[in-house]
Amino acid sequence: MYVSFFEDLKKEDVDIAGGKGANLGELTQAGIPVPKGFVITSETYKEFMESTGIQSKVLALLKKLDVNDNSALQKASKDVKKIIIETEIPDSIKLSIIEAYNALCSRIGINDAFVAIRSSATAEDLPEASFAGQQDTFLNIKGIDSVIEYVKKCWASLYEARAIFYREENNFDHDKVFIAVVVQQMVDSEKAGVMFTVHPSTGEDTALIEGSWGLGEAVVSGTVTPDTYWVDKKTEKLLDISIAEKNTMFIKESDAGNTIQVDVPEDKKNERVLTDEDLSKLVQMGKRIQEHYKSPQDTEWAFQNGELNMLQSRPITTLGDAKNDGSEELEMNIISKGLGASPGQIAGSVKIITSIDELDKIQKGDILVTTMTTPDMVPAMKRANGIITDEGGVTCHAAIISRELGIPCVVGTANASSILDENQIVTIDGKKGLVYEGKLTTAEEKPIDISSTKVLAAPTTEITATEVKVNVSMVEATEKARATDADGVGLLRTEHMMLACGVHPKKFILDGREDELIQIIYDNVLIVADAFYPRPVCYRTLDAPTDEFQTLEGGEDEPHEHNPMLGWRGLRRELEEPEILKAEFKAIKKLINQGYTNMTIMLPLLQHPDELRQAKALATEVGLIPHEDIEFGMMVETPASAIIIEDFIEVGLDFISFGTNDLTQYTLAVDRNNELVANLYKESHPAVLKLIKHVINKCNEAGVATSVCGQAGSVPAIVEQLVELGITGVSANTDAVADVRKTVFRAEKKLLLNAARKQL
Ligand code: PEP
Ligand code: MG
Repeated sequence: MYVSFFEDLKKEDVDIAGGKGANLGELTQAGIPVPKGFVITSETYKEFMESTGIQSKVLALLKKLDVNDNSALQKASKDVKKIIIETEIPDSIKLSIIEAYNALCSRIGINDAFVAIRSSATAEDLPEASFAGQQDTFLNIKGIDSVIEYVKKCWASLYEARAIFYREENNFDHDKVFIAVVVQQMVDSEKAGVMFTVHPSTGEDTALIEGSWGLGEAVVSGTVTPDTYWVDKKTEKLLDISIAEKNTMFIKESDAGNTIQVDVPEDKKNERVLTDEDLSKLVQMGKRIQEHYKSPQDTEWAFQNGELNMLQSRPITTLGDAKNDGSEELEMNIISKGLGASPGQIAGSVKIITSIDELDKIQKGDILVTTMTTPDMVPAMKRANGIITDEGGVTCHAAIISRELGIPCVVGTANASSILDENQIVTIDGKKGLVYEGKLTTAEEKPIDISSTKVLAAPTTEITATEVKVNVSMVEATEKARATDADGVGLLRTEHMMLACGVHPKKFILDGREDELIQIIYDNVLIVADAFYPRPVCYRTLDAPTDEFQTLEGGEDEPHEHNPMLGWRGLRRELEEPEILKAEFKAIKKLINQGYTNMTIMLPLLQHPDELRQAKALATEVGLIPHEDIEFGMMVETPASAIIIEDFIEVGLDFISFGTNDLTQYTLAVDRNNELVANLYKESHPAVLKLIKHVINKCNEAGVATSVCGQAGSVPAIVEQLVELGITGVSANTDAVADVRKTVFRAEKKLLLNAARKQL
């Protein structure tokens, strides 16, 4: 079957119609008003590639390719796409597409109707990156020749450089991945936008609707700041509204059909887009769709001549974790509460770990419950579906590692390890910090593959002046971090590299095996430097807390400190163990010598400018000249360093980055790992913000770049304030990059708008 109309497709038909196509079929069959259309099936693509003989040509071209040679990769991608686009489609296939397009036109009642053409990825369990083109959408296409041309463009998108790279690196056969194409009546809307059928970050039963003038692309791409409406789903009451100044919109350019971006007419810029009646229609539709799918949905809608059309619906999985609408939650028994440390809802069987000898108990899909995770538990954490701890706050070990692994996590429950039973089935809500008895039907059961990019929000395309980078704490999660399309790595933590090798770094030095230590650091950092090249990667020198390094071979002599958080860690420790710091500098120097000029260095936990001076001298001693060979910066993590930042600037800095996890705990005297005071732990505390503001001002005056890489950089509300304060970069957790970029984009637009208004 070359083509299939929406009426004949169901959500199970992903293999044939791809995710988008199957979904549009499902909505059509459910009686939801969806613009008419059909899908050119994945089989058709396959037959095109095989019957024309180009599949083997393409494979031959890629066989010799070294995907790590970027220019060769780009060229191969270009060549393959050219082959696909220039190859004639066999008559039998072409005829089916012509017939389907003509049938669609007669259903619409217009000859040569305008259509949208979209690629639709099959095999949803494959990571998004293997289908680089799945985001491709071509609007306002008209006439069969153009339809054929754009269908081929969608097929060719399967060979974008990123997709080739991903498939090669992950051993997916290029000829086993297929793509379908959706051809759909174009809606020429007067207003359009998106609707989340529950609040996307809290999961409350409130519809969140964003709308603006013209075609929906302006809202979806973030080109315009839309109006936002919060509507109570039960009463349909408008709870809150934010009317934005909507300066731009996309429209169809008369008969030519091009999609163009134009200014919104003056009188409509500040006009409310959606009437109460529109909102009521939307909310009712949202309820219908959610009921149909039995899960909250992220939808796209458009009004054409007052008629509501639904363009897309997908489960809310990436924006926050609002996978249920809250109603189910009420029926379920909450058995434990803590802090939401890593978002997502997941169910599994409880395995209580009281000592590291018990780690083998954790099988794929279990819920690891323990007092507090330790670095030795990381292999078991990777197998687990979710993590629950008695102790800890949102920046503790369990929280940081879970976020990086993409595993839901609740920390600081006080007693989960004593009140939960072994093998009991529970569901974790890692956003709200709740543990439910039994399995919530909307929760997933599948263990998460950390190398997969599937759990991520699609990379956003907004270009922001403020750099948006990503944090990497475990080298294994590099690919997932890279798939965020971040502007680089704003924090590459070293601790896990050391913990993963099982040997204390000082043991290498004591045993005269410095070379081995350098090689371990080099090998690990290389993976990240290479994946992100030429985007910058910021290597943070070792911040080894004594309590976490005790279990390593050679860590037996680590001091037992009363409060390791205030103790022998960070740069102060490395200045007393300079051979380790020098080995790190040597590893980075080796990378730079091999062309990885995208490396930068950042020092942790400084409290006096002399520390910076000494570290720079050690770098110089091993031939790595700060500011010449490499950009050199420091974390601002102590109130002391924030208050006298001018003195550090005088010693010489290219950049600083706020380590808000530590800056908050030291400013507020709140141990970040102590759940008893977690309610007082607030990065947005005015004192913390005041220190940050002071540092940003001084750095901006001196031309020193500023960034944030603590957890605050992953919290959109704080990021917005930091952009307003003049920060020049942000580094977020992998799961937060897309949201943070959107926040930065809007915050920058707001600033520009306010500046422009002031000039009026
Ligand atoms: C911080 O303190 O904010 C930070 C990023 O460093 P770490 O969490 O590794 O201490
Ligand atoms: Mg820190």
